Amino acid sequence: MRLKDKVCIVTGAASGLGYGIAKRYVAEGAKVVIADLKDDAASAAAAELTEMGPGEAIGIAMDVTSEDAVNQGVAEVAAKWGRVDVLVSNAGIQIVHRIEDFPFADWKKMLAIHLDGAFLTTKACIPLMQKQGGGSIIYMGSVHSKEASELKSAYVTAKHGLLGLARTVAKEGGAHSIRSNVICPGFVRTPLVEKQIPEQAKTLGISEEDVVKKVMLGQTVDGEFTTIEDVAETALFFAAFESNALTGQSITVSHGWHIE
Ligand code: NAD
Repeated sequence: MRLKDKVCIVTGAASGLGYGIAKRYVAEGAKVVIADLKDDAASAAAAELTEMGPGEAIGIAMDVTSEDAVNQGVAEVAAKWGRVDVLVSNAGIQIVHRIEDFPFADWKKMLAIHLDGAFLTTKACIPLMQKQGGGSIIYMGSVHSKEASELKSAYVTAKHGLLGLARTVAKEGGAHSIRSNVICPGFVRTPLVEKQIPEQAKTLGISEEDVVKKVMLGQTVDGEFTTIEDVAETALFFAAFESNALTGQSITVSHGWHIE
C-alpha cells in the first residue's frame, strides 16, 4: 500500500476525476478527505469508498472559492487526523463561449474556482506541511495548460495559470520538502465533458459525433479518450513519489494529443 495512513485532501471529489483519485488513494491505504460543494454528496462518496477500503474517507462541504470554507475545512482535517500529506486541487467547472460573448461574471467564476481555489487550498495546507516536514501538492491542469482551443478562453487562462502557481510552490516549498506538480489530462468522459458535447455542437454548428471525433479526439494518436483510471494512476505517482527530485513538473496524459 503506497499511501498507507497518508492524509489526502481531494477537492471536487464527489464526482469524476476527483472521485477516481480518491478511490485509488483509498485502495492504497490512505485517509482521504472528499471536499466538495455539498456535504451530502461528499459524505455519500466517502461512505462508498470507506466500504471499499482498505483506507478510509470522510466527506466535508467546501466551496474552494471561499477562504473561510477552505480554512475551516482544512482545520477540521487537522483536528481529526493531525496532518495533511497530500493536497489534490481538482475542483473545476467548464463554461464555453467565444470571447466576445463571454459574460464577465462567468469569466470571474471560472478563475475563482480554478485559480482562487488552488491558491486558497494551497495556502491553508502549507503551514501543516511545513510543520510535519513535507507534503505533495497536485494541481489538476489539462492539455489546456499547454494548448488553446476555441471557446475556452477562461479555462485555458486558468489552466495555464496553474503551471505558474505549481512552479512557485515548488520553489518556495523546497526547503520544507513540499513538492508541487500538475497533471494535464486530455478529454475524459466525466459529467464535465458530457455536458460540453451538445454545447459545443450547437456553438460550432456541427454534430455531436463530430465534436467527439474531430474536436475532442481529433489530435490524439489513436482516437481514444483518456480514462479516469489513467489520471488516478498519475495522481498516485505524484503523491507517492518520495523525494524532491520530482517537483515543479507537469505530466500530460492525453493519448498524444499534446506531445512536448
Ligand atoms: P466533474 O464535473 O465530474 O467534477 C467536478 C467536481 O468539482 C464536482 O463534484 C463539483 O461539485 C466540484 N466543484 C465544482 N465547483 C466547486 C467548488 N467551488 N468547490 C468545491 N468543489 C467544486 O468534472 P471532472 O471532469 O472530474 O473535472 C475535475 C477537474 O479535472 C477539473 O479541474 C477539470 O478542469 C479537470 N479536467 C477534466 C478533464 C476532463 O476531460 N474531464 C480534462 C482535463 C482536466
